[in-house]
Amino acid sequence: MGHVRFSRRQYVKSAGVVALVGAGPGAADLLTLRAHRLLGEADVIVHDRLVSDEVLDMARPDAERIFVGKARGNHCMPQADINALLIRLAREGKRVVRLKGGDPLIFGRGGEEAEALAAAGVAFEIVPGITAAVACAADLAIPLTHRDESRSVTLVTGHTKHGTLDLDFIALARPGATLAVYMGVHSLPRLAEGLAHHGFDLTTPAALVERGGTRQRRILTGTLPELVMQAPAWSNGGPALVLIGDVVARRAMANSGECHAAGTTRPGTDQLRQAGADRRHRSNAIPQRPVPA
Ligand code: SAH
Repeated sequence: MGHVRFSRRQYVKSAGVVALVGAGPGAADLLTLRAHRLLGEADVIVHDRLVSDEVLDMARPDAERIFVGKARGNHCMPQADINALLIRLAREGKRVVRLKGGDPLIFGRGGEEAEALAAAGVAFEIVPGITAAVACAADLAIPLTHRDESRSVTLVTGHTKHGTLDLDFIALARPGATLAVYMGVHSLPRLAEGLAHHGFDLTTPAALVERGGTRQRRILTGTLPELVMQAPAWSNGGPALVLIGDVVARRAMANSGECHAAGTTRPGTDQLRQAGADRRHRSNAIPQRPVPA
C-alpha cells in the first residue's frame, strides 16, 4: 500500500481516504512530519480524548473536528459507531484523519478500525506515533531494554474486565525484563498482588509517569508496593503509565518535578543502581512461590 496523499485529484476521482494517525504523547513537536502534513490537509479530524489541543491546533483551521471519546468508563461513542462514521465520511469523499493518542495500533483499537475500513473497501493508511511507553522512558532517561539488565519489554494493559486483571502473571513475573503497564493506575494493587503471587521480586524499581512526553509530565519512583501506597494521593488524574524493571534504576540524569514514593527526596542514581545490583545478587536465593494450576 502506498502512502496516502490527500490530493484534490484523488478526492474528486475516488471516494475519500482515511489516515489512522498516531498523535504521540501530547507535545506537538513529538508528532511525525507525515502526521503533521496529513493534519494540514484533512477535511475532518476524528479524535480521542488523549489527543492534546497542541496537536489538534496543527489541523487546518476550517477542518471539521469530531470528538468521539473515550474517558475511563465513559465511552462517548461505541466502537461500531466510530467505524461507521469513518466509513461514511470517506464515502462522502472527505479526507479524514482519525487521530489517536500515542500510536494507533497500541491499545488504541486502530486495528479494529483498519479492519472495518478494509472490509468496507475504503482506502486507508496508518501513520505510527510515539507510544506512551517510549515517551515515558525518555522522560525518565531510562533504556527500555539493556544488554545486561533487560532483554525484552512487554506492553500490557491494566484495564480490568469485570474487576479482574486478566494477565499472564507467570510470564510477567520473570526477571530480566521491562514491563510497561498502560491504563494501570487503578488496578495497580491487583497488579502488585498478581506479580507477587508468582514470585516477582517486589523490590524491583518502578516508576509512574503521568502525562509523559508533555511539559506537564510528573514522575513518581519507588518499588511497586510504594507506588501502590502513594499513587492515589499523588495522581492528578492525567494519563499515566507504570514502568517496572531493573532498567528504572539505570537513570542517566535527574529529572525535575519528581517525587520518590518512599520519602520526600529521590535516592541518587548510584544508590538505586547499588540497590538493584544487591537485589539481583540476592534474587537467586529468593524462594519462588508455588504457581497455582
Ligand atoms: N495508543 C496509546 C495508548 C492508549 S491507552 C499509546 O500508544 O500511547 C491509554 C493509556 O495510555 C493511558 O491510560 C495511559 O496508561 C497511557 N498513556 C497515554 N498517553 C500517556 C502519557 N502522555 N503519559 C503517560 N501515559 C500515557
